Amino acid sequence: DALPLDEVDGNVIRTVKRSVFSESQPSPLKEPLTLAAVSQDVLRNILDLNESVIQNEEFVRCVSGGKLFPGSVPLAHRYGGHQFGYWAGQLGDGRAHLLGEYTNRKGERWEVQLKGSGKTPYSRSGDGRAVIRSSVREFLCSEAMHFLGVPTSRALSLVVSEEPVWRDPFYNGSVIKERGAVVLRLAKSWFRIGSLEILTRTGELDVLRTLLDFVIKEHFKSIGTNDPDKYVVFFSRVLNETAHLIAHWMSVGFAHGVCNTDNFSLLSITFDYGPFGFMESYDPNFVPNTSDDEGRYSIGAQANVGLFNLQKLLEALKPLLTSDQLSQSQQILREYPQIYHQRSHFTVSVVDFKELGNEEKDSYVIAFLLKLMEDTGADFTMTFRQLSEVTLSRLQKGSFAPSLWALSDLSSHKHFRDWVQLYLQRLSRIMSDSDEERQHRMQGVNPRYVLRNWMAESAIRKAEKNDYSEVTLLQKTLMEPFMEQEEAERAGYASKPPSWAQQLRVSCSS
Ligand code: AMP
Ligand code: MG
Ligand code: MG
Repeated sequence: DALPLDEVDGNVIRTVKRSVFSESQPSPLKEPLTLAAVSQDVLRNILDLNESVIQNEEFVRCVSGGKLFPGSVPLAHRYGGHQFGYWAGQLGDGRAHLLGEYTNRKGERWEVQLKGSGKTPYSRSGDGRAVIRSSVREFLCSEAMHFLGVPTSRALSLVVSEEPVWRDPFYNGSVIKERGAVVLRLAKSWFRIGSLEILTRTGELDVLRTLLDFVIKEHFKSIGTNDPDKYVVFFSRVLNETAHLIAHWMSVGFAHGVCNTDNFSLLSITFDYGPFGFMESYDPNFVPNTSDDEGRYSIGAQANVGLFNLQKLLEALKPLLTSDQLSQSQQILREYPQIYHQRSHFTVSVVDFKELGNEEKDSYVIAFLLKLMEDTGADFTMTFRQLSEVTLSRLQKGSFAPSLWALSDLSSHKHFRDWVQLYLQRLSRIMSDSDEERQHRMQGVNPRYVLRNWMAESAIRKAEKNDYSEVTLLQKTLMEPFMEQEEAERAGYASKPPSWAQQLRVSCSS
């Protein structure tokens, strides 16, 4: 049922009908290949593999599309999506190949995918490739998010090649030659809101039902397959978990950058790491993606964008719902703001009290702090971290060592002392533990290291010259983001960002 639309380099680009996947072979990258990074955690704890496997010269080919695993039938997934608010039609895996699934020793089932592995029927005008810079960012950030405790896709490996790839990194008309890279990534499922939307939009309702039943059976095991309301329960679950995910992003200052419905997982994990960014100076209008002129996906808009995307999910489910089920689902949708608020880790992580956030007054303490941060441009990550690193008596005095640079910025505000008074009052009412106990608890949720743009950029510049030492250092550091580490401190990862960091921009070019 596939209708060839166009042919590019002998590769037929299609509008595909009545299918969820198309068979598609990866195109091997030009050799020599370098295995630039491997996640030992994924290797051992997801894939049950021994470290020695990476010595095998076939390994690098297997994880970059040059050699298939026995029995693998590589697939590209057909999906659609709303991009920047508008229905964009058929998209699909334009540069990704699903290699198969692996059920590990723990009984977890993981879908193994390559990204940057060549054209598929869904490549449209793209070349099917991914460059070093975006691949380093995806590899590092997806692993970092996992260790921050945020639901995410994972990455096993980063392979860099000599394959020339042409890109215009700043969208200013200057195309440059870069090099191709492949990330092997894993998720429990790569299905997204757009996977369902395309089927509804084209009226393929039998396929929609089949796919949805499959997703529920495989990934929502507690929903009974014979439950007449299973689609409503499914919708409610996705809504809850999406709210939870976005609240989690906010708690670590993560802006995804491209929150289109094709990038929103049905399992509510973070995926498709493109022009994401961790907010430095606190600013609700922070937009990580320079291609996002209108700031549609600013950090402060993410909760609302989640609602928009869930509305689109409900539109996709609509043909399968009775009118009663539709009104129930619409009611669930109306509850989203409240659910988001409840599931918000934000308040918890900000000042980190299990109890804090339960009282109306707490939101005032938090809003007050955020306002001080906004006014002083204090660093988001380090303000919370350093709040945990000073004793309460020190906080009250309000003078800080240079190493406590974020607090020092914050304390320049004329209302800083007023805030400290409020904070201490609130603490004294609910806390009975010592400074040590409080610090221990706070330091478990407020990271010292996140993947700031300048850190990724520094590693990328070296990687482009075949030096992967900083990729390795960042990978190691971000595996324990809550623990102070000597080498990371020496690299300045907890210091005030260097001045060149402010000029850094990331676009959709990848
Ligand atoms: P994204 O904005 O990263 O979610 O990508 C949107 C769509 O463009 C997806 O369908 C991607 O597979 C596709 N795409 C992005 N880059 C490329 C590329 N270099 N070649 C082919 N397809 C691509
Ligand atoms: Mg995408
Ligand atoms: Mg992408």
